Amino acid sequence: MKIDTLCVQGGYQPKRGEPRQVPIYQTTTFRYETSEQMADLFDLKASGYFYTRLANPTNDLVAKKIAALEGGVAGILTSSGQAASTYSVLNIASAGDHVVSSAQIYGGTFNLFAVSLKKMGIDFTFVDPDADERTIQAAFRPNTKCVFGETVANPSGAVLDIAKFARIAHRNGVPLIVDNTFPTPILCRPFRFGCDIVTHATTKYMDGHSAQVGGCIVDSGNFDWAKHADKFPGLVEPDASYHGLSYVKTFGKLAYITKCTAHLMRDFGSIPSPFNAFLVNLGLESLHVRIRRHAESAMKVAKWLKGQRKVEWVNFAGLPDSPYHRLVRKQFDGPAPCGVMTFGIRGGRKASIRFMDALKVIGIVTHVADAWSCVLHPASHTHRQLTDAQLRAAGIPPDLIRLSVGLEEPDDLIADLRQALAKVK
Ligand SMILES: *Cc1c(COP(=O)(O)O)cnc(C)c1O
Repeated sequence: MKIDTLCVQGGYQPKRGEPRQVPIYQTTTFRYETSEQMADLFDLKASGYFYTRLANPTNDLVAKKIAALEGGVAGILTSSGQAASTYSVLNIASAGDHVVSSAQIYGGTFNLFAVSLKKMGIDFTFVDPDADERTIQAAFRPNTKCVFGETVANPSGAVLDIAKFARIAHRNGVPLIVDNTFPTPILCRPFRFGCDIVTHATTKYMDGHSAQVGGCIVDSGNFDWAKHADKFPGLVEPDASYHGLSYVKTFGKLAYITKCTAHLMRDFGSIPSPFNAFLVNLGLESLHVRIRRHAESAMKVAKWLKGQRKVEWVNFAGLPDSPYHRLVRKQFDGPAPCGVMTFGIRGGRKASIRFMDALKVIGIVTHVADAWSCVLHPASHTHRQLTDAQLRAAGIPPDLIRLSVGLEEPDDLIADLRQALAKVK
């Protein structure tokens, strides 16, 4: 099946007389007939559902669809994008280990790595994603367990050269994990460029209607854990909490996702509600139609903004003069990687605020990537504790406005932007 068909029919094929829509198994637990049947499930000897924290049929069907869209072997849903990022790393790194991460990542992920996981004893080195291979190589240590990056960084818009990062990761015997939230698998499939594991905030385009917060991890099944057994004992060596079972020996290509379920989900429990998984699936049924329209409208809006005297700068990887133009052509299906861009108004912070307050159709919202167009001013909102000097050091100019282009008629959005610009002196 082609990707557009997978969006609609992937993961769930109802048989005769079964519901056409994915059923919501809104249940904590599942009933069995003998004590032994249940015991085998606890030992991972048999597969089946017994407690929703470990697995739920609705969640599994939706994870299967996302795995199919990415071209992976298995996936797991989480209760948020943050939980997906956390588990993707914790599944293969623990206290005393080290991770190399792109410095251009979502602010929440940066804080998770630099503060919270660091407190748990995992060290991070952040690298400029545009640096050459030798510079990035210098960040590796003997205890490095993975490399992390974001296909299109939120909010900076930097595009990750996935093939370059995969090459460096594999040369060091570790997998590359990529957060593919912004392009979604419709516009970019990171596994094609050598990435091993993909994460998502389904909160964004996959849901697409601002209806739920959720995440997902998908494994390509390509990374050879056994070949690097010294680095990944948790996947290769016997797990005492499952009677000495080895994930790689027992589950083969499903080892990473099975461990994530049987270990991290069991112990930390960031499981989504089956109802939220149902909402993600509703979004996925039209993702292929929506994301292309988001990207196309964003291109139109970015080109218009670029021509305005009062607009100081526009950063959108879809623009032909973007430094990422060549990478966009190589990695993405279509001329633009998503519907999110950043720009600044001439006159700095004050002018940007005045402009935003004058918008009528485009709303001020702490969100991106859904049907309603919205803006956010990081200097006054997400990063408001920083001074202008600190903002510049973090790569966020004080005048930066993040615009997420929704599914409205782009001419209406341009008219709104035009009337708001007219109110800036
Ligand atoms: C929003 C976002 C996240 C975090 O997702 P939540 O569902 O809000 O936890 C992670 N990565 C990217 C790129 C995001 O945009």
